[in-house]
Amino acid sequence: MKALLPRIEIALSQIRHNARMLSELYGQKGISLMGVSKAILGEPAIAEAMIQGGVKFIADSRLENLQKMKKAGISTQFVLLRTALSQAESVILNVDISLNTELETIEELSYYAKIHNKIHEIILMVELGDLREGILPGDLSQFIKKTLALSHIKIIGIGCNLACYGGIKPDNQNMGELSKLADSIEKEFQIKLEIISGGNSANYEWYESTQKVGRINNLRLGESILLGCETVKGKAIPGLYTSAFKLIAEAIESKEKPSLPFGEICRDAFGNVPTFCDRGIRRRVIIALGRQDVLISGLRPSKDWEILGSSSDHVVLDSNNYDLKVGSEVKFNLDYGGLLAAMTSPFIQKQFIGCSESDRASSLTRRRREGISYVCK
Ligand SMILES: *Cc1c(COP(=O)(O)O)cnc(C)c1O
Repeated sequence: MKALLPRIEIALSQIRHNARMLSELYGQKGISLMGVSKAILGEPAIAEAMIQGGVKFIADSRLENLQKMKKAGISTQFVLLRTALSQAESVILNVDISLNTELETIEELSYYAKIHNKIHEIILMVELGDLREGILPGDLSQFIKKTLALSHIKIIGIGCNLACYGGIKPDNQNMGELSKLADSIEKEFQIKLEIISGGNSANYEWYESTQKVGRINNLRLGESILLGCETVKGKAIPGLYTSAFKLIAEAIESKEKPSLPFGEICRDAFGNVPTFCDRGIRRRVIIALGRQDVLISGLRPSKDWEILGSSSDHVVLDSNNYDLKVGSEVKFNLDYGGLLAAMTSPFIQKQFIGCSESDRASSLTRRRREGISYVCK
């Protein structure tokens, strides 16, 4: 049988290694990890590799992903990163801990927690400058006062998220502020905050450079575990694998052609008027992969080839005059955006490679339980 194309090859052992190295690194200063699974569509085998590597929680922004992992038999504490009022009942039924910033939503959570006879745990997210989610520090005290009045909600921690919307860097200033807030809340309300979640894969530089982490005892890591890099500068973290995911697609045309389109130029398939520079006759290769599958700017050809452009279903490469044969496989590394889109595309097959015996065994169990098609090579 021919290998499926396009496909994403996933090296579980590399993800497990990354999770283990990061758990050990951050663990040295008492920081536990949540493995963030949203970029991999809550793929149970990957979540399991993260857990084997030492993450204490699995966190995702989508309930559907968390449900998928739960159904597949993944056993851990599940954290919902993005909580919507309309999903309150499902949150109560499917999630152990949710991150929250709105009182109406927490009231709704409490309402359903009561109905289902549960105590729901929440982490309150604080706004520390990035201007995505967060309660303003000045409003936090009142907010907590009202939340503590809700019968079926337990505040187990506070957290913040930086370097996502506003590109604000985690540093001693904002991390120090989060620590201070934790202290003052505990003092004011006589409660214990177990989790102080300082951020995401952008917190690496801060962690490496800081003398003391203060109260920060948790981070939520997606990209660092999956792609082995931090996200402030996009640098690889020493000792981690950076290409646990490889996208492989098929060359369907390979011809020497002019590099300048001929005829009158109008708008392309996406409404842009393209411009080109003339490099003479070049070998151009068309790959059976397109914008419907993947974020093209997130693709890194593994050879010295250049992506010239793309449409819904085609990527055009300049192969540096390398004579690539029709039907051959072309490999790409992926950045976060490329990974997110590729894992979400229904057209891209997922294949696990380099699986250990235990990967094979657990994938078989899952396959039996769920009828999910896991392929271990
Ligand atoms: C996506 C997300 C993360 C993980 O971010 P990475 O950069 O992949 O580590 C952490 N926290 C929240 C709230 C998120 O939405």
